[in-house]
Amino acid sequence: MYQERLFTPGPVEIPDRVREVLGRQIIHHRTDEFRQVFLEVRELIKRLLEDPSDNFVLFSSSGTGAMESAILNFFEEGQKVLVVNGGKFGERWLLLAKHWKLNVIEYSVEWGKSADPERIRDFLKEHPDCMGVLLQISETSTGSYHPVEEIAQVCKESDALLVADAITALGVYHIRPSVGIDVLVGGSQKAFMLPPGLSLLWFSQKAQDRLKDRAFYFSVRKELNKQKEGQTAWTPAISLILGLKESLSMLLEEGMDKVEKRYRAISEGTRRAIRKLGLDIFPEIPSISLTAVKSQDAEKIRKELLKHRIRVAGGQDHLKGKIFRISHMGVSDKDGLMLIGVLEVVLKKLGYSVQLGSAVAEYSQALMESGLW
Ligand SMILES: *Cc1c(COP(=O)(O)O)cnc(C)c1O
Repeated sequence: MYQERLFTPGPVEIPDRVREVLGRQIIHHRTDEFRQVFLEVRELIKRLLEDPSDNFVLFSSSGTGAMESAILNFFEEGQKVLVVNGGKFGERWLLLAKHWKLNVIEYSVEWGKSADPERIRDFLKEHPDCMGVLLQISETSTGSYHPVEEIAQVCKESDALLVADAITALGVYHIRPSVGIDVLVGGSQKAFMLPPGLSLLWFSQKAQDRLKDRAFYFSVRKELNKQKEGQTAWTPAISLILGLKESLSMLLEEGMDKVEKRYRAISEGTRRAIRKLGLDIFPEIPSISLTAVKSQDAEKIRKELLKHRIRVAGGQDHLKGKIFRISHMGVSDKDGLMLIGVLEVVLKKLGYSVQLGSAVAEYSQALMESGLW
């Protein structure tokens, strides 16, 4: 039987070049060999972020670990923060910030909508003691994009640190934190096309000046001192770091401008094909990392796709049964076409009036117009 194909927004499929490295015998981490690889990885991260500073650390954890670390290392109990809550991951910021007893103001964004920078400007004016704005760049649960650059402009005028969860954005979008992001969170099993288990936390000078010592395992200061020298405070996820060297090299060899263009083309092609099939796109401003599709038959469609050994994700919480989500992360332009072809068949079998080949043609047309094909 064929291998199941993952079109899920985490984990995503792992490129062969990365898998080859992951399959090797482990090396010891307290060695020059590891130190050299780790320092190379750090150089690649600097190139990825176009920031020559050493202000970032890797943790052995899923993405949420780095989110928690952001809260613990840059904020204190009782400090006021604004949380943009527009989905499952916005809600996670809310839960984390409340857990660590920050004084949380919630900016509740209807699921599928995007944050309005003007609203954030008003919030910050009303609350000049607000020390942070926490958001997702790509809200994976709804497929929405929050306009981080505009929001960064707003935050720059205040004391607030802009804390951006880029777990499904970094490695897809050409993100330069110098636009005004203060704390940036990345994770391995999505845009970096690795297994889960590594997270990244980058921070600006403005954030560094506020570094706290509240965390133990997730201490930025402890890790940074070691990581600058090519070592880690605790046992690192050695294999994943070797894999990260490959996936970052792949992204940088292509160039982040081209990577973003490719994801733009694939996501645009997918959206056009979906509309051709008579279905609607759920988010108002779609992320290019994934496409959330609105349908009362979402679960039926998802299960039919599984029979073809294609796995997409369903909706979460109140969106369960109302949307399904197609990830573009780690998916090639050709595989995107394949998915649309199978989706046509699935919908036709479910009784939709579909002309086979019509959505495939729309996808191809979009990719040709984009210049990618
Ligand atoms: C997946 C994801 C996370 C982190 O989830 P983990 O399961 O801890 O890796 C956080 N934010 C976003 C936007 C995500 O997509």
